[in-house]
Amino acid sequence: MGEGAKRTFLGSVGMLIGAHVSIAGGLPNAVARGIELECDSIQIFNQSSRAWKPHNHSDEAVAEFCEGIESSRVGPVLIHAVYLINAASLEHEVRTKSLEALKAALELGDRIGAAGVVLHPGSQKQQDYEQCMKAAGEAIRECLAETEHCPLLLEDTAGAGGTLGRDLSELARLVELGGEDERIGLCLDSCHLLASGFEVRERKALSEVVDELELKIGLDRLRALHVNDSQMPLGSNRDRHASLGEGELGNRGLRVFLSEPRFEGLPAVLETPGPGQSGTGPDLAEVRKAKRLRREGLRNRKRTGDRA
Ligand SMILES: [Zn+2]
Ligand SMILES: [Zn+2]
Repeated sequence: MGEGAKRTFLGSVGMLIGAHVSIAGGLPNAVARGIELECDSIQIFNQSSRAWKPHNHSDEAVAEFCEGIESSRVGPVLIHAVYLINAASLEHEVRTKSLEALKAALELGDRIGAAGVVLHPGSQKQQDYEQCMKAAGEAIRECLAETEHCPLLLEDTAGAGGTLGRDLSELARLVELGGEDERIGLCLDSCHLLASGFEVRERKALSEVVDELELKIGLDRLRALHVNDSQMPLGSNRDRHASLGEGELGNRGLRVFLSEPRFEGLPAVLETPGPGQSGTGPDLAEVRKAKRLRREGLRNRKRTGDRA
């Protein structure tokens, strides 16, 4: 996959709904899982999400993965960087490991032509806020300088315990501190938005959030969505994903989110816990449900015009 593949999906209309899938057994298996779930986009971890140890993907595995993507309905691929990364840390060891892990994710992104590496921008912990913001910016610059072209997508957070990226001003600042490189983009998560106090369940309110994004950061930086329901209420600052329709967004809120006109063309992946909160991740029924909710949302908008 290269520039050509990227253009195809950016130019297309619709929303590329898919899911986070496992790479257990090797990269190519992720494509098979994506096809099974009728995904139009997928997200993977490049290595175990809760360990530092990098995973070496062989050239054969990468080639097989790319061929699989090319010949399937699966379009853009997102890589989620591991959770342990804290690009805002001022501690030497955490910082070194974080930069290495982030670079490893971007390098795989370069090799597979990923639409982006999704990163939680970092956590302040007990450290100085300004210094942490600057450290995150420097980490972004350094990792971009040492890798080729894979975009780096900063994900908005639920705002718990000093996590950076809890609102659009803070994300705008991080883009700026990262050098405003055109590879820097955003990934918005419906659950995190709601938890950090954004009313994304109502058309007008959601539209205002996108207006703010357009004004402060620019719509061209919005490159991906995470579609999750939220176990926790608006403004709770707690990050607990729920299956679609079973949380605070509910079917009604998700219809609105999934049919927002300025989200057209974006990859939108589910990171839900799976049937009965099993932790196995989204299944085919849930991916289909997301597509149905989007269709219903579009129909509602058409029927009622500007009225919410
Ligand atoms: Zn997410
Ligand atoms: Zn989350």
